[in-house]
Amino acid sequence: MSYVRRSARVSALLKSAETKPITIKKLAEKASDQDVTKAIKKETTKDRDISIETVKQENGLKVENKKRENNKNKDMDSQKPKKKVRERKHEIIYAPRVSGTKKLVGAHVSISGGIHNAIQYSLSIGANAFAIFLRNQRRWDAQPLDPEHVSMFREGCDENMYPSGSVLPHGSYLINLGNPDQEKRSTVGQCTLEESIQHIAGCINRAHDATKSVICVVENMAGAGNSVGSKFEELGKIISLVKNKKRIGVCIDTCHAFSAGYDLRTKERYEETMTEFSRHVGFQYLRGMHLNDSLKELGSRRDRHANIGKGYLGLEPFRLIMNDSRMDEIPLILETPVPDDDFEIYKKEIALLYELIGKQTLADANIPKSFVKSLGMNENEISKSSGKKKKVEKNSEIDESIVIVPQKKKAKIK
Ligand SMILES: [Zn+2]
Repeated sequence: MSYVRRSARVSALLKSAETKPITIKKLAEKASDQDVTKAIKKETTKDRDISIETVKQENGLKVENKKRENNKNKDMDSQKPKKKVRERKHEIIYAPRVSGTKKLVGAHVSISGGIHNAIQYSLSIGANAFAIFLRNQRRWDAQPLDPEHVSMFREGCDENMYPSGSVLPHGSYLINLGNPDQEKRSTVGQCTLEESIQHIAGCINRAHDATKSVICVVENMAGAGNSVGSKFEELGKIISLVKNKKRIGVCIDTCHAFSAGYDLRTKERYEETMTEFSRHVGFQYLRGMHLNDSLKELGSRRDRHANIGKGYLGLEPFRLIMNDSRMDEIPLILETPVPDDDFEIYKKEIALLYELIGKQTLADANIPKSFVKSLGMNENEISKSSGKKKKVEKNSEIDESIVIVPQKKKAKIK
C-alpha cells in the first residue's frame, strides 16, 4: 500500500540543549508597588477584568519602556554608524507581563520588518515566550536573515528576558521530511508509514550533523489524509530513530491532539491523554505546546484553530495545562485566529491563561464578562462547561495552523 504523506511539522528550539533556568525577576523588580496596586485596581474594577498581581500598569510601562528605548537608541548611536540603525517609527504599547512564573505563555508573532521585531510584538501582548517563522512559510526561496537584524534580535532577547528556551521558531509548511524524494522533501511523496517515519528521522539526524546546538521539535498532527505524527506512537517511533536524543523534542498542539482523537476536556480524559503521551513519547521530550482551541469536534481530523475557550475544547483543558507542572518552563504558544487583524486578542488570551493558574475550577477564575459572552453561555454555566458542545464562532476559514499576521501592525513596523 502506498501513501501520500505529509510529515509531522518540525520546529526548532534555538540552541537550548542546555536550557537555562528561567527567571523573570527583573520585570518584577522594576515595577513599583504603586504600579502594581494601580494595575490590580484597574484590572479588578473594570468590567471584572483579569486581575494579575504581578502586572504593571500599561501607562507606567509605556513611560518606562520609552525611557529604556531612548537609552538604547542613545547607546546604539554612540556605538554604531548612524545609517545602520533602523529606528521604529511608531510607539509600541507594552502590555503587562506576568513575572516570576514557570508558565511561559506567548504567541506566534510576526517578523515583518526584521526578525528583531518579533520581540516588540511579544512585548506588546505581554508574552513570556514566542514563536516565529524564520522565512515565508509558503515559499521555498528566501533571503538569508539580515545579520544586523539577527544581532538586534539577540540583544533584544537578552534585554527583555526571552531566553533561548522560550523561543520556538516554526518550520515551513512546505517541508515534508517524510517524502522519499531526497531532492525535494516537499509537500507530497509516496511511501509507507514506516518508510516515512524513517525518512523523517533520517532528515533530523542530518540536520543534527549539520548544526551544533539546534533542537528539532516535531509537532503532532491533526491526522488529515495520510499525515504522519497524529498518533503519539508515531512521534515516539521518530524519536527512537533519532541518534542524538538530547536534540529532539515534541510540541503538542492541543487542537491537533483533539482533532486526532485525544480528548482533553475533563480532568480524567486529560490525564488519560497525558498518560498516553508519557507511554509513547515521554515528558522529557516535551519541549513546547501550541495552545489552540478547536473549531472541529473530537476526532474530526481537521486542523481548524479557534480562540481559547471558543471552540469544542472549551476552557477546562487550558486550566489543566496551566496547572500542570509538566508544562513548566517550555514555550506555550498561541496560534489562535486574530479576528479583524486585531491582535489584542493575544493579549487577552495570554492574560486569561495566566488567570487560570492556581484555580481549582473555572468558577474560581476571574474571567472577563466579554469572554463569557462570546462563549454563548452565562457565567454559571462556565464552571461546568468542559466536555459540552457549544456554539462555535463563525471563523472556519482558518487554514491549517496559519498564524495570522496583523496587517495593520505589519505595515507600521519598519
Ligand atoms: Zn501548531
